[in-house]
Amino acid sequence: MERQPARQAGKPLFEKPLEGHYPGATAMGAEEAAALSAVAMARSPFRYYGLDLQHQTRSFEDHFARYLNVRYTLGVTSCTAALFVALKALQLGYGDKVAVPAFTFLATAGAVVSAGAVPVFIDIDDSMGIDPLDLDRKLAADNEIRAVIIVPLLGYPCDMAALLAVAAKHGVRVIEDVAQSCGASYAGRKLGTFGDIGVFSFQMNKLITAGDGGAVVTSDPALFIRAVRYHDQGIFREQERYGLQSPDEADAFAGLNFRMSEFTGAAMGAQLVKLPDILRRMRIVHDLVRGELQARAPQLRLRKLYDEEGCAGCYVALVLPTPDIAQEFIRALAADNITSYLLYGGMPLFRRDIFRLRRTAEKDDFPYNYPFRNPIEDPEQSCPCAIDLCPRTVFIPISPDFTREDGELLVTGILSFF
Ligand SMILES: *Cc1c(COP(=O)(O)O)cnc(C)c1O
Repeated sequence: MERQPARQAGKPLFEKPLEGHYPGATAMGAEEAAALSAVAMARSPFRYYGLDLQHQTRSFEDHFARYLNVRYTLGVTSCTAALFVALKALQLGYGDKVAVPAFTFLATAGAVVSAGAVPVFIDIDDSMGIDPLDLDRKLAADNEIRAVIIVPLLGYPCDMAALLAVAAKHGVRVIEDVAQSCGASYAGRKLGTFGDIGVFSFQMNKLITAGDGGAVVTSDPALFIRAVRYHDQGIFREQERYGLQSPDEADAFAGLNFRMSEFTGAAMGAQLVKLPDILRRMRIVHDLVRGELQARAPQLRLRKLYDEEGCAGCYVALVLPTPDIAQEFIRALAADNITSYLLYGGMPLFRRDIFRLRRTAEKDDFPYNYPFRNPIEDPEQSCPCAIDLCPRTVFIPISPDFTREDGELLVTGILSFF
């Protein structure tokens, strides 16, 4: 490949390292400050009552429901809490198995274990999302798997049509963990609205943020009532707001507290307004980089994208020939001040000691001690694609602040390696 002018001067392509990848936080400013101040000035930081309640969390939930086109949304304290609430809304716990992707963040499988169920790792496909064929095979072999958690990693939708068909065929529940892909879609429909329940994260690393926070969304009133109750000590307040009736005497059960505060709701209300623009700006650069790479270097292997229109645009990812070449590639990009990395250290989740050695906070090996009828396959044998792809797939973050010129420089930096 021809040397680029920017390199000949012996200087990196980008003068300084690109900003950290915090799209929502980068966009934070006067709007969040005003909303937070309104809560403080009203001295009403609790969502259900106060001296002069501003209903910031309620407004955020209503706006989020319209944005996603889903019937019910519930703000909670994190996506981990949201996963926990979703599992309990679906009555999943001790004695149940839940299918999770072999490659995802700790929380997806951690919440399953904390909820008392056992995760079954499913292999990934070229999109780095859960593989419908392996899901089909494992569901057919094990009727103790009651649900699947679909995780669209870093803005790319999974093979949703195939996954939903497999889940329906085997009659398992579907949770979508959309922590990393808020606002992304598949076939024109927002991720998080396909399954029984969708969960979102508003932690600092995610596309919009209040530092921490999360949401549970569903269009099923019975699941929603259970979610609200579980997140609020078994109570269901504001029944009239939703036009739902659920007498405590018949429906209440023991729960926990994962309520979203008014401060979080206020910040999230302001962030949600900014989400379309954040996505639009990332998408311009993402599409430019991906398109240029496809046009100018068709031999390069890019991460598979199941919906060209639906990705969030927050990362481009390349599959390198070997893990060693992936490391070389990362070093070469770093010399040009381009950030890139292997996600989760390039390690499938089942290789982490927490899951490999089945470490829990509980006594007697709970929940793994349940006398299941069907053995769980060893993921080291049953997830070859995750073992192959994770250590050689390099992710490059795209900030909403990147310009087209930054996108062109990214392409130059990537191509000059090959
Ligand atoms: C970040 C993340 C979570 C956990 O979100 P928190 O809000 O930090 O609890 C869950 N699942 C995935 C896929 C994530 O990336």
